[in-house]
Amino acid sequence: MANEGSAINPFETAKRQVDIVADLLHLDTGVREILKHPKRELTVNFPVRMDNGSYHVFTGYRVQYNMARGPTKGGIRYHPQVTLDEVRALAAWMTWKCAVVNLPYGGGKGGVICDPKHMSKDELQRLTRRYASEIGPIIGPEMDIPAPDVYTDSQTMAWIMDTYSMQKGYSVPGVVTGKPISLGGSEGRGEATGRGCAYVIREAAPHAGIRVKGASVAVQGFGNAGSVAAKLLHDEQGAKIVAVSDSKGGIHNPEGLNPHTVEEFKLKTGSVVNFPGSRSITNEEILELPVDVLIPAALENQITKRNADKVQAKIVAEAANGPTVPEADVTLFEKKITVLPDILANAGGVTVSYFEWAQDIQGFFWPLAEVNQKLEAVMVRSYNDVHKVAEQQHVHNRTAAYVLAIQRVVDAINIRGIYP
Ligand code: GLU
Repeated sequence: MANEGSAINPFETAKRQVDIVADLLHLDTGVREILKHPKRELTVNFPVRMDNGSYHVFTGYRVQYNMARGPTKGGIRYHPQVTLDEVRALAAWMTWKCAVVNLPYGGGKGGVICDPKHMSKDELQRLTRRYASEIGPIIGPEMDIPAPDVYTDSQTMAWIMDTYSMQKGYSVPGVVTGKPISLGGSEGRGEATGRGCAYVIREAAPHAGIRVKGASVAVQGFGNAGSVAAKLLHDEQGAKIVAVSDSKGGIHNPEGLNPHTVEEFKLKTGSVVNFPGSRSITNEEILELPVDVLIPAALENQITKRNADKVQAKIVAEAANGPTVPEADVTLFEKKITVLPDILANAGGVTVSYFEWAQDIQGFFWPLAEVNQKLEAVMVRSYNDVHKVAEQQHVHNRTAAYVLAIQRVVDAINIRGIYP
């Protein structure tokens, strides 16, 4: 996903987004400062024994951005380009995300600088267990609850849950979400981000003047969020998936691709690239295709001032965190493109994480149909809340979502008061 985006500091973006809304809400300087600072940050440097017997020191972070509304919540990312500012931005976005869908959580995020694609499963296990021990003192079901993010999964969560539980001396399933079902994971968590995104697209389509049935869809990033959104839009809503991509490149077929067959191909070959019957495109080109719906489902800084005027989609549904920078938002708004912002469009994942945590605490588990029904209710309600603010205040959906979210966080800060 290389473009000039990698030079943009995501935390600067996150702070700008707060300022835009703080002006609209006439927030005073003190509150604004609180919203623009992470409450707690931990950096850990720790050695891991590699398979060849050598030791390598890795750096990891855990940022607890704001806990006014409840324990902090957010994933852990393994990626060679992780930085503290990226984790800060992702933690801020988790704060607003949990608030916009009204979960009783603050926001946090973690990251480890590593290249999981070039590490063995044993190395990843040792890295994960050591990182979990290092951040152990600041996580817990009532404090900060990690979950999967880019290049981490239910296996990663199982290792963290086990490490934390070993140190406590008893099993603590509620310390992480996105666990395997056998350890207290929730039905439906695996596909929740993509499913939530598909619900929001369905709700927004009539307002954006499109019918999802037969609509053309391009998905940048065919991972956990993007592949599930593609499959559900294809299977349940009759959309035509015309292009998908992964970190190695993209494929395009205007006649439509079967996302299930593409997924099997990627499982076999390691990438969607060279899928039979498709034309190769780049991760930049996929953003500029003449499609009805574009789903950025990879990393930050993909839609910037360089390419925003070339986006042709009628709906941009952000399954990724932070794919669009504020200048690009202005251009997309002027072009009357409906943006479904990340803190709304990808909130399905953390919503079912919340359901998982609630089930763990009760030790009482719900069937899949109930999880999906509750998820749908949250996504539909939240979309309508955001849409209403956007209409009333004549702002785009991101600003509307931030108005809702930041007002909720500010209300919690104010009613709690400043200690001491
Ligand atoms: N990593 C996901 C996100 O960015 C999920 C976080 C969670 O479930 O806590 O929303």
